[in-house]
Amino acid sequence: MDIQEGKAVSDESLIKDAENERKLLYLQVTQNELNMETVKCLIVGGGPAGYTAAIYASRADISPVVYEGVQPGGQLTTTTDIENYPGFENGIAGPELMATMKAQAVRLGADVRTGAVTDADLSQRPFKVVIDGEHEIAAEALIIATGATAKYLGLPSEIKYRGLGVSACATCDGFFYRKKTVAVVGGGDTACEEATYLAGLCKKVYMIVRRDVLRASQAMQERVMATENIEVLWNCNTQEVLGDEYGVTGARLVRKDGEVFDIAVDGFFLAIGHHPNSELFNKWVNVDKEGYIITDGKTSRTNVEGVFAAGDVQDPLYRQCVTAAASGCRAALDAEKFLKMK
Ligand code: NAP
Repeated sequence: MDIQEGKAVSDESLIKDAENERKLLYLQVTQNELNMETVKCLIVGGGPAGYTAAIYASRADISPVVYEGVQPGGQLTTTTDIENYPGFENGIAGPELMATMKAQAVRLGADVRTGAVTDADLSQRPFKVVIDGEHEIAAEALIIATGATAKYLGLPSEIKYRGLGVSACATCDGFFYRKKTVAVVGGGDTACEEATYLAGLCKKVYMIVRRDVLRASQAMQERVMATENIEVLWNCNTQEVLGDEYGVTGARLVRKDGEVFDIAVDGFFLAIGHHPNSELFNKWVNVDKEGYIITDGKTSRTNVEGVFAAGDVQDPLYRQCVTAAASGCRAALDAEKFLKMK
């Protein structure tokens, strides 16, 4: 009897334990759901595409929440004067243009926040996105406007001296090389822009160009050629960045004809293009061989219904501030249409 009673008690307590465990699990799930914020339209990226999408999405009343990412304002915060963004007769500084776009989005009602996406699950709607590794958001529609990041040559010496003379941003770091000699690698618009900017600060600027022509627009080429303290080293590649315990002291170059020679420089700037920041999403959205998100025709639609892409992350061709802004507009209009038809 005692034993039977004992067994009965123990069964009951087992059942109670299981019930308690179920309740706990239920509470935990409910708590997670309560913690998870749900938003109608989540915009990832705070560059011209992200802010323009936020401006249009606010006016469309789809309550956009914007996470600006690790570089609020995007690549343009590292640019000097922008002369080709319409509406500014005398040009405008990149950071100022970005601050104005952001202020416009905020005034119209966009919820612009600091933080970067660290994880995403776009396998079903609502899409789950994790911000800074902790805050989880469920989004009905998602606009990816994460832009692109500067490329490096991939030399071990370049990594060794990164931050000690090696930089991919003349406007950020040029100040440290006033009256010194620097090198800029690349022959595109960015390289020309950085070289002319640095020429205003530095004693001398070498441009290391791997071909015998510049890829840059005619206007930028002419500006480089007209700048006395810029010397273009044609048909040259960098073999090694040279340095000592204090940082960069020079670069070893190899010319197309095989000649190897050193130049003495205090700073070594990379301006050889960018790669799209699509890594967090490319498990779900289709990308091309370089990682640019593929969109459907003239729209911003990706292969995942409810996910849209705007700006440099989906544009291998134009990559201009004005084209990024325009694609942000398209993404917001596409997201609005999607949310209304859902
Ligand atoms: P880009 O046009 O792709 O030019 C990259 C440059 O780097 C090219 O000269 C390329 O040489 C060189 N390069 C690439 N990989 C290299 C390597 N491993 N070693 C040495 N050199 C290498 O990139 P970008 O200049 O950053 O411009 C990107 C886009 O933004 C362009 O459409 C450009 O017009 C635009 N942009 C516009 C403005 C403006 O309008 N204000 C300013 C900046 C950029 P090759 O020519 O031999 O390939």
